[in-house]
Amino acid sequence: MSKKMKMNFKHGSEAVQNGKLHGATALTDYFYFFCPKCEGDKILRLLDYRIYEEKEINPYDEEENIKSKSAKGFTLQFQIYCENCNHSDTVKISNLGYQGGDHSTNR
Ligand SMILES: [Zn+2]
Repeated sequence: MSKKMKMNFKHGSEAVQNGKLHGATALTDYFYFFCPKCEGDKILRLLDYRIYEEKEINPYDEEENIKSKSAKGFTLQFQIYCENCNHSDTVKISNLGYQGGDHSTNR
């Protein structure tokens, strides 16, 4: 039996909040997060993920001026880790909250 790391999902630290966590795709459609502490866009490892929240009905679909309908509501949480500086953190991706307009760190 292999020994698995038991991941502890905490709220993301200050290092990933207020627009400090960036990322991009490379040659294909895979998305990479960059270390918020290292210079030079060091790619983070994803050590684990979990479904943080899931809803059959997505209330955001009913927001004013929203033309699209989602299959369901979800929030996924990822455990991220930098092999370069050992920084460990957590980030969420969701379709339940704000999903439009221009990016601003003031939201
Ligand atoms: Zn780093």
